Amino acid sequence: MAGTRKPVVEVRRSQRRRRTVSAYRDGERVVVLIPDQFSRAEESEWVDRMLARLAAREGRLARSDAELFARATRLINLYLSDYGTAAAPASVRWVTNQNGRWGSCTPADRTIRISHRIQDMPEWVIDYVLLHELAHLIVPSHNAQFWALVGRYPKTERARGYLEGVASVALAG
Ligand SMILES: [Zn+2]
Repeated sequence: MAGTRKPVVEVRRSQRRRRTVSAYRDGERVVVLIPDQFSRAEESEWVDRMLARLAAREGRLARSDAELFARATRLINLYLSDYGTAAAPASVRWVTNQNGRWGSCTPADRTIRISHRIQDMPEWVIDYVLLHELAHLIVPSHNAQFWALVGRYPKTERARGYLEGVASVALAG
């Protein structure tokens, strides 16, 4: 969604600035701070560059709790639809306190938490971690029935290998 609408840009020139350029969003506007000695060409080049940088930063933030919930709903429809509301979580949130776990699930209150450490991982890895926790709403333990549910997701083995690789790199580092 970011970047579909061209924002109103306000350029502020500062005599104190020598080389640094910065930009921030202020409501509907984007304020770009540039050194006073910049030419018009430099100004327009830097405005474009800072708008792109801002859009990239906001694209990362787009992995919000709302997006995560929508992703969960899509995964339930694709892989767990025969369980109906049994697979539906009450809440799905990104959290920063998972202590080495990628995700966790509390079947009693149907809440799911996903570690922010996977936020920048590929989509198919996020989908696996999320589906894993959704399956725990149906089967709390890691038994054969549980793995059969998770195995409905075609990239389960690949995603588990990816995460094991990340974990061993982290241990080595
Ligand atoms: Zn598990």
